[in-house]
Amino acid sequence: MPLLQLDLRAANQHLVGVCLSHTPSHPTLRLSLPAWTPGSYLIRDYVRQLESLRITQQGMPLENRRTSPSSWEVELQNLEPLEIHYQLVATELSVRTCHLTADHGFLALAAVAVQIEGERWNTHGLQLQLPAGWEPFVPLPEQADGSKVGSGWIAANTWIAADFDQLIDTPIEVGPHNAHGFSVAAVPHRWVTWGRTLAGEDFITADPHWLADVERVCLACCALMGVERPAADHYLFVLHLSEKGYGGLEHDSSTVLHYSRKALAKGDGRRKLLQLVAHEYLHQWNVRRLRPAELSPYRYGDAVVIPTLWFAEGVTSYVDQLLPYAAGITTAESVLEDLGADLSRYLLSPGRAVQSLLESSQESWVKLYKSDAYSPNSQISYYLKGAVLALVLDLLLRRHGASLTQVLQNLWQSHGRWGRGYHESDLVEAFAYFHSPLSTLLPEWLRSQSEPPLHELLADVGLELTPETDNHLDLGASVELKAGQLWVQRVNRQGPASQAGLMVGDELVALDAERLCHPEDLGPLLDLKYSGHQRQLLISRDGLMRNLTIRPANPAIKAWTLGLVASQTGQTSDQRNRWLGLQPA
Ligand SMILES: [Zn+2]
Repeated sequence: MPLLQLDLRAANQHLVGVCLSHTPSHPTLRLSLPAWTPGSYLIRDYVRQLESLRITQQGMPLENRRTSPSSWEVELQNLEPLEIHYQLVATELSVRTCHLTADHGFLALAAVAVQIEGERWNTHGLQLQLPAGWEPFVPLPEQADGSKVGSGWIAANTWIAADFDQLIDTPIEVGPHNAHGFSVAAVPHRWVTWGRTLAGEDFITADPHWLADVERVCLACCALMGVERPAADHYLFVLHLSEKGYGGLEHDSSTVLHYSRKALAKGDGRRKLLQLVAHEYLHQWNVRRLRPAELSPYRYGDAVVIPTLWFAEGVTSYVDQLLPYAAGITTAESVLEDLGADLSRYLLSPGRAVQSLLESSQESWVKLYKSDAYSPNSQISYYLKGAVLALVLDLLLRRHGASLTQVLQNLWQSHGRWGRGYHESDLVEAFAYFHSPLSTLLPEWLRSQSEPPLHELLADVGLELTPETDNHLDLGASVELKAGQLWVQRVNRQGPASQAGLMVGDELVALDAERLCHPEDLGPLLDLKYSGHQRQLLISRDGLMRNLTIRPANPAIKAWTLGLVASQTGQTSDQRNRWLGLQPA
């Protein structure tokens, strides 16, 4: 059994010492470090944080050959036990990277553990050495028998992963923290937080109802999937409360949540965190066990095209807003507010006219995770448009007496619970089972930029989207003030700024010979009374001045608001409540 020993005592140096012990069964030893981690579709080249790799056998160093930036090969003279040593720089705080400081340690094991060729499906052991007073939080079964534990390693800290996949599906949080236990349908759950609230309090102490609410959300996830209990037989929530950032990463038996203290202190902060909990917990089924065929098995070295990410992330993003309401925690008004904000963001995304949902899913590796200031012009997130499509599909199915819930439950029974990966055709079949025209409509909505009938379907549940227009002319660009200068931050491909030739990064120096120092100085350019006027802009680009002519356009839509249709029947409001509560149509 390969044994991975991690030494986290050099916290101030942010260095993780790694020793992987292994008894080879083949004269050629091949090692590779994953290039990415499931759930986050970007080649991260974790090897950039790895240093000083050496391999020893009975204390003698062995020569290794680098076969790629992330892989090594060694020709062995004998099959005696050997050790692979290296260290990792743990300075990147996110749910998918490693962070070790005097306050805590967090390890995403895909960034830590090298895979030994031929050992992937074998049991792996894990041991930790921690600074004094620190506790480990590891979502793996612990080995009761400490007999295999070497000197200096704490017997209580030995965990067993069924295979390499389970090993690197294990996020490790360590620190002077306390975990809080609770149960979901008699399955043991733990919650551990690193960081404190904005008021400096312990998160769970400051919010005594939190764990009970999380339990209710977890039960709502089980109900949505049509199961009595969670898919995992134990579960760990890790929350990082930090200054900024937002995100989560799903695992089979755990999740890591990254949330900002400031966001938590806001009026909707608790609700949004509860949605993140719902999102990641539902991934326990949707994407982890009910998984796209391209991810079965995972190929840790390559970017794999996954055409159905819109389902894995879009459906999860859609229902994460409904689940806390279905659990009886949030109000219908707040769900409509959050849903409306997403729909507005979607309708204001110019990229939806360029990239299809299928392309967005297929291009995740090179676009969504690598977006820049120009991306909104040509990209639409498969999370966002996927959620809009999930809403459309749910409402359309409800018109025909079914719902998205039934599709999810059927897919769980036909694929997820058996570990059968799904293809797009399986998803289309599952939807078309309840409404046969979807066998052609759904592939078309995935492949084209044509809009599914969103407004019409919202009317079924007594809702309408109303545009809100700006009260000034439109530049088709956004501008930020930095160091007393105005810089172009975004340029809409179809707008006046683009037609005038402005680029992201241009400095706006003067408007009709008047110096520009503050965003308010653009007032005369945007004033409605100058509609149709042509203006001169002096800009600086790459250190050179140039004059551009710009004619601002009529006011643009700045937001869409989701609201109740003025007159509606009691039946409509009943339908709306059942829909929001994930109840049968
Ligand atoms: Zn997700």
